[in-house]
Amino acid sequence: MGECVNIIDGIIDRIADYVFPRRCPICDGVIKISEVKKKRYVCNKCEAEIPFIYEPRCKKCSKPLSDNRLEYCYDCSKRKHKYNTGIALVEHKGPVRKSVYAIKYKNRREYLDYYMSEIARLHGDAIQEWKAQVIIPVPMYRKKQIKRGFNQADEAAKRLADYLGIPYNDKILFRTSDTRPQKELSDKERRKNVENAFHIEENIVKLRKVILVDDIYTTGSTIDACAKVLKDKGVEDIYFITISIGDGF
Ligand SMILES: [Zn+2]
Ligand SMILES: [Zn+2]
Repeated sequence: MGECVNIIDGIIDRIADYVFPRRCPICDGVIKISEVKKKRYVCNKCEAEIPFIYEPRCKKCSKPLSDNRLEYCYDCSKRKHKYNTGIALVEHKGPVRKSVYAIKYKNRREYLDYYMSEIARLHGDAIQEWKAQVIIPVPMYRKKQIKRGFNQADEAAKRLADYLGIPYNDKILFRTSDTRPQKELSDKERRKNVENAFHIEENIVKLRKVILVDDIYTTGSTIDACAKVLKDKGVEDIYFITISIGDGF
C-alpha cells in the first residue's frame, strides 16, 4: 500500500514538474518538485553565485562595509534616516539584478518564495526582536498596479508575513501620486520625487512598531518617505526589509 502511494506521489510530482514548473530565481531553470518539497527553491550552483550580505554591514541600512571598524556606510554617516534600521538579503548586482528585474517585469513572483524564505531563515530571529505589530508593503500607485497586475513589494510582504507569523496589512499606507521610477533619478531628485507621495488611510493610533517591505533599497529615500508619514501618525519604530540593496550615491 505504502509503495503504491509512493509511486502515485512520484507520478503527481512529475506531472507538477511539467505543468507548473518551479523555476530557479537565478538561471530560471526548472527546480524539481521533490526539491521544492524540501523547501529548496534554487539550484546549488546558482546559490553559490548569489552575493549575500554578511557582516560587517552598516548598522542602519545593512549595506556591506569594507572595514569592520566602521559602524555606518558612507550614505548613512552623512544622512539621518527616518527609520530605525533594516535588513537587505543580497547586494543588487550580478545575477540578482536580473532576477529582481524578472520578478517585476516578467511576472516571476515565485522567485519571492526563495528570497523571502531565505530572509526568514537567516534573519528571522533578528527581525522578531524588533517586535513589529505589522508588516506593510511599500505601496505602488494604484493605476500602475492595475496595469502590472501586482505590486512586487506587496507579494514579498505577504510571503514574509506568512513565514514569520507577523500580521500583514496593505490597507494602511497608500501611494497618492504616480512617481517617476527612482532608478532614473539622482539622490536629490529621488527624495523630491517621493517626498509627498504617500499617505495613511487607516486610524493607526495603536500602531507603534512596523516593518516596511520593498524589493530594492538604493538611497533609502522611498523608505524614509513612508517612514515619515507613519511617524507623523505616531508610529515610533520603523524597520525595513528588502531583497537587495544597491550602491546608493
Ligand atoms: Zn539555477
Ligand atoms: Zn548605511
